[in-house]
Amino acid sequence: MLLLAIESSCDETSAAVVRDGRQVLSNIIASQVDVHARYGGVVPELASRKHVEAISVVIDQALETAAIGLEAVEGIVVTRGPGLIGALLVGLSVAKAIAFARKLPLVGVHHIEGHILAPLLEEEVSFPYLALAVSGGHTHLYRVDGIGRYVLLGRTIDDAAGEAFDKVAKMLGLPYPGGILIDRLASGGNPEAIPFPRPLLHQKNLDFSFSGMKTAVLNYVKKQEGPIQGDHLHHLAASFQAAVVDVLCQKTLRAAEEQGLGRIVVAGGVACNSGLRTRLHALGGEKGLDIHFPSPVLCADNAAMLAVAGDCYLRAGISEPLDLNALASWPLDRAGREKWHPGE
Ligand code: ATP
Ligand code: MG
Ligand code: FE
Repeated sequence: MLLLAIESSCDETSAAVVRDGRQVLSNIIASQVDVHARYGGVVPELASRKHVEAISVVIDQALETAAIGLEAVEGIVVTRGPGLIGALLVGLSVAKAIAFARKLPLVGVHHIEGHILAPLLEEEVSFPYLALAVSGGHTHLYRVDGIGRYVLLGRTIDDAAGEAFDKVAKMLGLPYPGGILIDRLASGGNPEAIPFPRPLLHQKNLDFSFSGMKTAVLNYVKKQEGPIQGDHLHHLAASFQAAVVDVLCQKTLRAAEEQGLGRIVVAGGVACNSGLRTRLHALGGEKGLDIHFPSPVLCADNAAMLAVAGDCYLRAGISEPLDLNALASWPLDRAGREKWHPGE
């Protein structure tokens, strides 16, 4: 089945053509970071406008790169939520319009469902597995028993890890989004230079908290005389990143052990982090666990990732009416349940 996938939940406008939910023929991503950088974060109204400007061009490019015409498309998959409502509505409206005009089946999937199934576009990963969704808006652990079968095991009780990376970067005078810049600075620093706290690490639950860690960095920065620069900046970035990575790895490994799962998928923008990749591979390797990170382009927001679930649902005869609404917040476990057991 040849699907056109559309993603517009935050600040990337993306369209992809994917065959059978596995083979990516194109995956075009138009980022708006330049637009939002000068405001230090995503401005929802601007995001919606930029999606409107970009969406047709991005879809045309996706079809062109895949070397197919719209008439070859057999179904449409779109991010229904969660995300910025105005941004989601742009992708959803275009998806509905194409579905209506071409009489194609439409399916709306959960953005995080896209993230945690993304590795399947590159390799076989059999179910069940543990998924750590770690991004700008999420730091959630799920048990994934199959497509649409998700159990929430733990989640951040305050900030998401990506949000903490971006806020710490801002404190250090780095532009938005700062996660990747902290990652780069960290590679030249000593991760043990500054002992930042590891919130909730020793609590039995699988929840995370990053707000306190962020405040600890802020207090540290305020105590310094003058700006932090040179080696000091590298040490700070490395120490903060080590604290985040430590908590993410320990809780993920604990969850895998508790659930008796030997496979782990890490997905979402923060899964690009080199410290997290190296450390989890090392710790997981020691325990004989099978660890999967998607390639960086599939960790960040992109439309191709939606096609894994989309293809599965459409094949099962699950499609949505054209009055489908976007959902700014939408629990993933419920989203999956509604697909297989509508109305429950
Ligand atoms: P969500 O997926 O929760 O809806 P989102 O779509 O806005 O949120 P993503 O695009 O999946 O988030 O991820 C973006 C986040 O990933 C940003 O916070 C960004 O700073 C962070 N990020 C990207 N690369 C890195 C990196 N190398 N190290 C740390 N953080 C990173
Ligand atoms: Mg983004
Ligand atoms: Fe995302």
